[in-house]
Amino acid sequence: MSREDYEIVIGLEVHSELSTKTKIFCSCPTEFGGDPNTHCCPVCMAMPGTLPVLNEKVVEYAIKAGLATNCKIADISKNDRKNYFYPDLPKAYQISQYDMPLCEHGYIEIEVDGEKKKIGLTRIHIEEDAGKLNHDDYGRGSLVDLNRAGVPLIEIVSEPDLRSSEEVDLYLKKLKSILEYIEVSDCKMQEGSLRADVNVSVRKKGVSEFGTRTEMKNMNSFRSIVRAIDYEAERQIEVLEEGGKIDQETLRWDDVSGKTFPMRDKEDAQDYRYFPDPDLVTIRISEEMKENIRKSLPEMPESRKKRYIEEYNLPEYDSNILTSSKYFSDLFEGATKICNNPKAVSNWIMTDIIKELNEKELEPSDIPFKSDELGNLVVLIDKGTISSSIAKKVLQEMFENPRDPQKIIEEKGWIQISDEGAIKEVVLKILEANPQSVVDFKAGKDKALGFLVGQAMKETKGKANPQMLNKMFLEELKK
Ligand code: ADP
Ligand code: ZN
Ligand code: MG
Repeated sequence: MSREDYEIVIGLEVHSELSTKTKIFCSCPTEFGGDPNTHCCPVCMAMPGTLPVLNEKVVEYAIKAGLATNCKIADISKNDRKNYFYPDLPKAYQISQYDMPLCEHGYIEIEVDGEKKKIGLTRIHIEEDAGKLNHDDYGRGSLVDLNRAGVPLIEIVSEPDLRSSEEVDLYLKKLKSILEYIEVSDCKMQEGSLRADVNVSVRKKGVSEFGTRTEMKNMNSFRSIVRAIDYEAERQIEVLEEGGKIDQETLRWDDVSGKTFPMRDKEDAQDYRYFPDPDLVTIRISEEMKENIRKSLPEMPESRKKRYIEEYNLPEYDSNILTSSKYFSDLFEGATKICNNPKAVSNWIMTDIIKELNEKELEPSDIPFKSDELGNLVVLIDKGTISSSIAKKVLQEMFENPRDPQKIIEEKGWIQISDEGAIKEVVLKILEANPQSVVDFKAGKDKALGFLVGQAMKETKGKANPQMLNKMFLEELKK
């Protein structure tokens, strides 16, 4: 037997912080950061005698997420207490949802090797986030920061339908993109706004029962998740091949060593002693509320993709990339409105902008300039005010210190030289300095022209209008 004889099975529990202004059961701000314990009140600090009040926006956002992922929305739902002790959870229970979640039976579609595959969603429920422990670097103790306590979360639980780390990567990217499109979460992974518990098991191909799973908690980088799954599946196969058995346990993934380590035995639902929270009322969702939320959903990527192909005449390849993120899509639409040149905008996003993001390890949401500014950049190129090589430099500036491209080229003196007299002066100078190229060109070596234009560009620091240069060199060479 070898690893090809095994099938990997993965199910994810994804936690996403909702971008409501206030917390789930009090009116403290949800804003990330801040001095420790400054975004708290007696409710989220769990003072005795305080009472939670459910934030309606949280219900609305969760339903939005449910509708965007093809879930059935409950008519009646409730909150339950999940009891466990941890120092960052001062109530000693988390308010979550047990057997009556807001959304159930949905799916997300991914495309694996050109084929569409539906990944089932068991449920989406709402719950409160816990605080954070800051561990002292010198081992003298830990300090509790409750700013995050009570920040609303949705937990999106998938069926064990995923079969490889690649599918998981596609699923997570799709899910993140959906949550961004419907604007319920900023999905900033480095701030922990999107994190996943990753359940992995293996079984021999052809066997219908699932194997015993292990769970890696709180992972917040796509790259680590992929590595962790590949490592953990391999480890399980090795254990089984040596005749061992897998313990159902919670593991910790260590990114530095690239290994998983046991953290604790897995607890069962019964260990949490779930029961309905007596401080909160039943949640009733009317048909009218569902309908209003459905109507408020923005245009989703599939429909945008179609529109880009039909309305803007873009290749499917472009449309796929542009709609892969709401931020690309909005940038594209905004810039195109300004310059009316969809293909040019698409090219800028697909090449220079994506390259810049990759180099700086930024996400589409981090693009610092506005869509109008990108639109204006394309206008400047189309009008011949700047060459495309200058435009690349302008884009760099827009990343470093975002401002209107017109302002940038004025400040930097990058306006294209399109004055005939000035161009002619440069052409004559370059011809005089490169007599060999003139001879070469006359002997039929067309490449010499390119060289001369290049020299003229260098001379003018990229500011000469290339079409005019070309034309004038030809005129002079043919004399
Ligand atoms: P818990 O909250 O106790 O972790 P669940 O039983 O609801 O409980 O499962 C959580 C996640 O584990 C789900 O995403 C599910 O798809 C996944 N899962 C369940 N069984 C397996 C398995 N054998 N292999 C991989 N994933 C699994
Ligand atoms: Zn509070
Ligand atoms: Mg779990």
